[in-house]
Parts: sequence; structure tokens; C-alpha cells
Amino acid sequence: MADLKKLGEFGLIDRFRSRLHTRSPRVKTGIGDDCAVFTTQTGTIQLISTDALVESVHFDLKTISAAQLGRKVLAANVSDIAAMGGKPYLAMISLGLPQSTPVKFLDELYTGLETACQAYRIELAGGDTVASPKHLFINICILGEARRNRVFTRTGAQPGDQILVTGTPGDSSLGLRLLQSKKKKSIALTKHVRHLTQRHLEPSPRLDEARLLARSKLRLTSMIDVSDGLVQDLTHLCTPGRLGAVLYEAHLPRSQALESICKKMGYSSLDYILSGGEDYELLFTLKKEDAKKIRRLFLKAHTPVSLIGEVTSSPGKIILEGENGGRRNLKPSVGFNHFKGNHRQ
Ligand code: ADP
Ligand code: MG
Repeated sequence: MADLKKLGEFGLIDRFRSRLHTRSPRVKTGIGDDCAVFTTQTGTIQLISTDALVESVHFDLKTISAAQLGRKVLAANVSDIAAMGGKPYLAMISLGLPQSTPVKFLDELYTGLETACQAYRIELAGGDTVASPKHLFINICILGEARRNRVFTRTGAQPGDQILVTGTPGDSSLGLRLLQSKKKKSIALTKHVRHLTQRHLEPSPRLDEARLLARSKLRLTSMIDVSDGLVQDLTHLCTPGRLGAVLYEAHLPRSQALESICKKMGYSSLDYILSGGEDYELLFTLKKEDAKKIRRLFLKAHTPVSLIGEVTSSPGKIILEGENGGRRNLKPSVGFNHFKGNHRQ
């Protein structure tokens, strides 16, 4: 098979283009011109977000396949649009490629990207391709739209608002731990192990759930997607320095897989639920009177939702109320933070 040198930048771009088939009605000109050209819909407001992934900081090619990486990088970006209550339609990609990158790897990466584009109805409308001396680098910029007056931001929560989360946070980071230890010793591929590693390698952004929330009349006051860990991301909703929160341990959702594997391996399931990252679940606050309507709304969703706590007026304090009523302070810094040296890999 050809290598990067033989294909050259333009041969490579042609090759990428031939693997991308999903089109958005918004996009008038895609790959091939100096800019992508697109229209917007009246009554909408535009959302834009970007996210960079660097090999050995964000991913390890020993634990994730190229196709999975393609799907995951787009899923993480889609999750940011979902977190605002929006719908994505266009993405741009920048790639930094070491000379030695196998063309087969790039073919598979674009197959993964195309699968995700199809699933979320996004057109990959362009990008940039450059050489990188050592590590692979992927940046995605995504565009989406939301209904005007129905965008959920991180600020807006008030004391007394209820805190809710979709799905079962913690699964993804436990899945990563299993993948990493699988490199060293053999862990039986049970149903639970498969579930957890799948949650890490192939996360599903909660786009449909975000749409349900955006279309409802429920009074959401803030929303974020859980990418750095439940507690750390919750502190972003507690308008830093102004609000706090109490979480009810008994109400924290936990998957059977997480419970069972933590028990077997002697890990603390609570640590994973509170600090695990890359779940891409939605964490949001809601006016207390609307909390009882949420269950009915989520009957139509693929993912459960749990009421896990309440916003308080104690600045910066995140408290965990135990099953026996005891309370303890949680450190908001227990999550992922780039410049503090707790890289995932
Ligand atoms: P320019 O020189 O104007 O920056 P490029 O030669 O970098 O343009 O890119 C040519 C076309 O290919 C552009 O439309 C660009 O958006 C697209 N493109 C470049 N790299 C990629 C990529 N990795 N994936 C998809 N499209 C790409
Ligand atoms: Mg360029």
C-alpha cells in the first residue's frame, strides 16, 4: 500500500474525501475549496466548539483502533453541542501526521469518522493536513444549531435547583483501567468487562436526550457534559465561588458492570462514579417543581436519568450525603486536569 510520501498532501486529501459520503443540507460547498460554505436556518442560534486530541495524552493506539478513534473524536465533539441543547451539522478536521503513519490507519480513521457522521448527520466539510514530527494530532471543530432562546449554558443554576445526570458515570474510566491492565495481565472478557471497555472506546453522546430536553418546557437552569468527572464538571455548574451542591450517595446511578467489577477487583465504585471522566453523559440543573416531570419525559429516551442532588448556596462546597445521613466534603479537584500531570495514559 502507498505511504504518505508517495500519496503526498493532495493525494491524501482525495483519499479522505472518497471515504466521506454524509451530506448536510446546510453545506453548499464542502471539501475542495478554500472554505466550506454553509447556510443557517432562521430561528436558530449557531454553536461552535473545538477539541484537540494528542497521541499518548488522550489516546493510546495500543488500546483503541483507528476506526474507534474516528468515531470517538467526533462523538466527544457532538457531546459538546448536545450539552448546549443543540444539534450538530458540520465538522472540520485538522490532522498532524508523523511521516510513518500507515495509510491503512488513516483509511480506517476516516471509515470511523464517516460512521459517526452518518449516525449524527454531520458533513465533514473540510480540514487541514500537516506533518507532525512525532505524535499524531487530531483537532475537530464542530458547528451546530439550537433554537433561539433554548440554549443551555453552564451558568444559571440557583440554590434549590435539582441536579440530574443521564446514564451511569464512571463506566468509561473503569473501562480504560481494564484496557490498560489488559495490556499487562489477561482479564477475562466477560459481559461486564465488555460493557465497560465499550463505554470507553465507543461512547454515545446524549444527542437524543438533549433534544428531548430542548423541546420540552422544563425549566433547565444549566447543563454540561461529563468529560472530566462528575464532581469536577459539577463545580462548573456551581458558578465557581458562588454556589455549592449536595449529592446523595444512595441516588448515584451505578451500572451492574461497574458494581460487579469493582467488587471483584477491590476498587471503590464511588471513586469511579464521582471522578471518572469521558462519560459524555449530560449533567444538568432543573427547577425543583419540574423535577417530577423529568421521569415522564425520559420514558421516551434510550438512557435513564437520575436525580442525584441539589444546588446549595455554600460557595465551592460539594458535599456527599452518605446512605446513613453522614456528610463529607468532596474535593472538586478530583478529575482530569491537563497541566496537573494526571494524564489518562
Ligand atoms: P488550503 O491550501 O487552501 O489551506 P488545503 O490544500 O489545505 O487548502 O485543503 C484543500 C481542501 O481539502 C480544503 O477544502 C480543505 O478543507 C480540505 N482538507 C484538507 N485536509 C483535510 C482533511 N484532513 N480532511 C478533510 N478535508 C481536508
Ligand atoms: Mg490548508
